Amino acid sequence: MANYNPNSEVSDDETPQIRDYKTSGDIEVPDRIIDQIIGQEEAVETVRKAAKQRRNVLLIGEPGVGKSMLAKGMAELLPPEELQDILVYPNMEDNQNPLIGVMPAGEGKNVVTNYKVKAKGQEERKNMFMIAIISLILVIGFVMQQFLAAIIAAGIVFLALQQMKPRSTVMVPKLLINNNKRNMAPFVDATGAHAGALLGDVRHDPYQSGGLGTPAHERVEAGMIHKANKGVLYVDEIGSMQMKTQQELLTAMQEKKYQITGQSETSSGAMVRSQEVPCDFVLVASGNLHVLEGMHPALRSRIRGYGYEVFMKDSMKDTEENRDKLVQFVAQEVKKDGRIPHFSKEAVAEIIHEAQRRAGKKDSLTLKLRDLGGLVRAAGDIAKGEKADHVTVDHVLNAKKLARTLEQQIADRYIVQKKRYRVFKSEGGEVGKVNGLAIIGDRSGIIMPIAAEAAPAQSKDEGKIIATGKLGEIAREAVQNVSALVKKHTGTDISNYDIHIQFLQSYEGVEGDSASVSVATAVVSALENIPVDQSVALTGSLSIRGDVLPVGGVTGKIEAAAEAGIRKVLIPKSNMEDVLIEERYRDKIEIVPIENLSEVLEHTLSGKGKKSLMDKMQKITDMVPHGILQKPAT
Ligand code: ADP
Repeated sequence: MANYNPNSEVSDDETPQIRDYKTSGDIEVPDRIIDQIIGQEEAVETVRKAAKQRRNVLLIGEPGVGKSMLAKGMAELLPPEELQDILVYPNMEDNQNPLIGVMPAGEGKNVVTNYKVKAKGQEERKNMFMIAIISLILVIGFVMQQFLAAIIAAGIVFLALQQMKPRSTVMVPKLLINNNKRNMAPFVDATGAHAGALLGDVRHDPYQSGGLGTPAHERVEAGMIHKANKGVLYVDEIGSMQMKTQQELLTAMQEKKYQITGQSETSSGAMVRSQEVPCDFVLVASGNLHVLEGMHPALRSRIRGYGYEVFMKDSMKDTEENRDKLVQFVAQEVKKDGRIPHFSKEAVAEIIHEAQRRAGKKDSLTLKLRDLGGLVRAAGDIAKGEKADHVTVDHVLNAKKLARTLEQQIADRYIVQKKRYRVFKSEGGEVGKVNGLAIIGDRSGIIMPIAAEAAPAQSKDEGKIIATGKLGEIAREAVQNVSALVKKHTGTDISNYDIHIQFLQSYEGVEGDSASVSVATAVVSALENIPVDQSVALTGSLSIRGDVLPVGGVTGKIEAAAEAGIRKVLIPKSNMEDVLIEERYRDKIEIVPIENLSEVLEHTLSGKGKKSLMDKMQKITDMVPHGILQKPAT
């Protein structure tokens, strides 16, 4: 695949202006969030439709592909003119059941102001009355020459009037939801919210019993479902929300109104229950596929029945048009950050190259744009630190080195440690030991040494496969798969042996499906007592026919091998086009495509016994009429 060339010719059917830029500063960034979303055309289309009809949406996809962006974009599409203010009033008849008032946005504030004016007027009238009485008492006392008695009487009257309850008969309502001057439908992110924050709450009042405390209506707090009224309520990782809370959320969704009560049973707030408060929101729920397991079935079915489910993409095709979208992405991220300089055309090209690498498969660009945005910012910070006018290719390359993910950092440290303790070698020959390759996290490669040992079977009937280490299950399966092959390839019957296999110090989180080629190699080496060249590392999945099938993450694996001092790496031939290693590794390591087990053995076994084994294999292969096994490449 060709790398992105910023100066490539413009073909007629493309928008020309995106080619003609000097820096990302020349690229126009759309105002609306929905227009800033890249590579998720179907999801955007669905959200537009859902916004028009006020439907709920479930977005399923990897982290950082734009789920919350879509939810925000949806809020922008909802009509703001429908917004409402919500007031909570005291209930004179039933103090514990505050009343709710709904009015068009902006009016709530006026209502509260009117009440305040009224309450103030009443207070003033009371004060005037008090001053008049006290003055009268003092005047009478003065006339009757009873000063002391008059002052005492005035004091008593003053205190009595002060204590008069209620101090004011006009109680001011509380503005629960204020949408004054809001010109966009609300977007409320309720991810990880506990019940009180989500559904509303009534504060506890320690003095409530004596009538001295805060009136109930003033203690009512709106929940996120109420704040999202006429807008979007967004919940990421919906599956990790408590079932009971999901149930309540569903009720709120269906009824479009929900009473507020104290959520803690021991609180005095639990005695208060408001009238129903409107909560007419659109739910956008999201998460990865696993989220569905923790999702309340009724909630899921509600969305399915009255809304849309969307599966988000994690990569897009590597076309000129899509590369242009990444140009827009860089411009967007720079603008959003606001502190970093714009990118030169070549620096943008390097970001696009990285998007190719991160996609991990041929002719694709990654859509995990949160991470890619991290690289944009890291490069921007370096450029800013150097007081550069704009970000250059070198800044991006440096950022790639500096901004290594946690997994990459673990992989780095792991290599150093393993080398120190000689868990693996990168030279010489060893019987039964193979440098396998695996992936941890998203795309960080790691050396995964595998050791096999074969001993004559203890049991007369059949040999055992003993696999230890965290990946034992995979090893057992791999050996079972290869036993027929080994017999065909080498004439050796595995069932005469007990085979021990160990993934040496396998690391938590390592995915090992792609280890079967390595396991097979280790087993053959152990059975035949032929050393494996330790300067070779390999990855690949073995079919029961002996074909090497493609695996994921080859770029990361090759880079890890090069980093560890390995000279040659074997990868499935069908993965060759996925290889997008960094320039600095190119001369360090030889990449050999492999198609079948014979080729693998040809490249990995070394020294004594190899030739006779290969000859034996050749003979057996020739005997197989339709050539299940291909001749080893030389
Ligand atoms: P998610 O919700 O899927 O985890 P977000 O929507 O929070 O991801 O994305 C995080 C950031 O990554 C966004 O603010 C944006 O900068 C960038 N981003 C992610 N996906 C896209 C996309 N499809 N188009 C443009 N930018 C994106």
